[in-house]
Amino acid sequence: MSEHKMWIGGKWVDAQSGNTYPVFNPTTETEIAQVPKADQADVDKAVESAREALPIWSKKSQVERSQIGIRLAAMLRDNAKEIARIDTLEHGTPKNFAAMIAGDLPEWFEWNAYNARSLMGNTVPYSPDELIYLQREPVGVVALITPWNLPLLMIVEKLAPALMVGNACIIKPASINSLTALKLAELLDKLELPPGTVNIITGPGSTVGEALASHRGVDMVAFTGSSDTGKRIMSVASNTVKRLQLELGGKNPVIILDDANINQVAGSLAGRQTNNSGQICASPGRYYIHEKVYEEFLEKFKMGMEKVVVGDPNDEKTQMGPLVSAEHRNRVEGYIQSAIDEGAKVVLGGKRPAKPPLNKGYYVLPTIIANVTQKMKVAREEIFGPVAVIMEKFSSDEEMIKMANDNTYGLVANIWTQDAARGMRFANQIAAGTITIGRTPGRDQDLPWGGFKESGIGKEHSLYGLYEYTNLKRIQVDLTLKK
Ligand code: NDP
Repeated sequence: MSEHKMWIGGKWVDAQSGNTYPVFNPTTETEIAQVPKADQADVDKAVESAREALPIWSKKSQVERSQIGIRLAAMLRDNAKEIARIDTLEHGTPKNFAAMIAGDLPEWFEWNAYNARSLMGNTVPYSPDELIYLQREPVGVVALITPWNLPLLMIVEKLAPALMVGNACIIKPASINSLTALKLAELLDKLELPPGTVNIITGPGSTVGEALASHRGVDMVAFTGSSDTGKRIMSVASNTVKRLQLELGGKNPVIILDDANINQVAGSLAGRQTNNSGQICASPGRYYIHEKVYEEFLEKFKMGMEKVVVGDPNDEKTQMGPLVSAEHRNRVEGYIQSAIDEGAKVVLGGKRPAKPPLNKGYYVLPTIIANVTQKMKVAREEIFGPVAVIMEKFSSDEEMIKMANDNTYGLVANIWTQDAARGMRFANQIAAGTITIGRTPGRDQDLPWGGFKESGIGKEHSLYGLYEYTNLKRIQVDLTLKK
């Protein structure tokens, strides 16, 4: 078992109260670490440190900041194996997937380091007697509050743009698994940033997260997590009218039209539904299938889900590991039970593995629930597990569009057809931030990401994402002024 400190003001520190909390391995159900349990006093210290660092960091040349970003990317690359190992240990991420995620982390810094160097301002042709120019400046001190489902990736996606354009940052990782975040702190320690430029504070969202969101010394909150927490953050942040960037939950409709290539769709979606044990915001949330291909899809999709290798995440062959915690498994099982109680049918799985060694660890088998109606809880709420929700058959395109939009979320929609124009007609009518036709979505540096409706506010990734971490200032000069 390891004991950890937080990274505040360029120093490794305990919580001022001396309190700690445990981190568990979801595969073995054993305690693996103790991490500081911060509170308001530690938040105040982190904010003070970040505010001291801000004028130093923000006034460095962009070239220097970008070079530091490139150095951090190289360090992440050198440490990718260790980061992947910790990810598997604290999150149960299958080895191959953990290696892929860790291998991608450096690119987030590289992309943002290079693009921050080309963030040019504008001049406005307003009047010959005036010079008007627009410039982008860092927002200030940014709190990054992140979820447990892809622990370090969710941090890096925010830290890279925020840091590269000159903000000072305070990271509050998820409590369940903060060890990859603390590994990042080890790398930051070697980077010799001005003390307090990046701080990593561990502790409960209800105290540390809220203290950051409501703090007068924090200028912006960049948050990824559930919509309920996002609403709470909006509420406590309103007191100081902070900039908010919110990446929230999804209940993503998958629409399978009568001309879809079912072999391709079924295989792709079985992998997608169980990737990271379904704990991905872009995972399929509910399936609307045309009646002409319904039976064929269900049969082939079931075959695909049955083939998914569930096992020890340390085994190279494993495709799906455990869920993140006992609490989250109870939540997922609660959704499966609610579907049964409301009259839906479990077609596959719906339970924990019975045999050793998988009877230990927070596993739930790949699950398919069919005959789901729009009013059922599993059709409306995010499950965040390896559970496919198959709605009743559909015969009309219009009805599918109406049902796909009949939800409070609007993160992703996924349309399967062999007719691109038909797919685009659907895409134009569906309220979601990302819509894919004939494929599932990825998370790329170059492409904007962000939900509509209760799935969030603002964009991440791409230049749109970089702009979120800047303030646009208008400067207007009267050129007729004479000394
Ligand atoms: P939560 O909303 O429970 O937690 C997210 C973070 O917020 C954690 O660090 C948590 O701390 C903190 N937090 C909790 N309560 C508060 C509060 N009152 N004030 C401030 N911070 C708080 O989400 P999960 O960790 O359960 O993550 C899963 C959710 O994240 C899903 O809904 C998923 O869809 C969403 N998500 C969205 C993505 C997107 O791009 N749109 C990407 C990935 C995930 P603590 O851990 O201590 O509770």
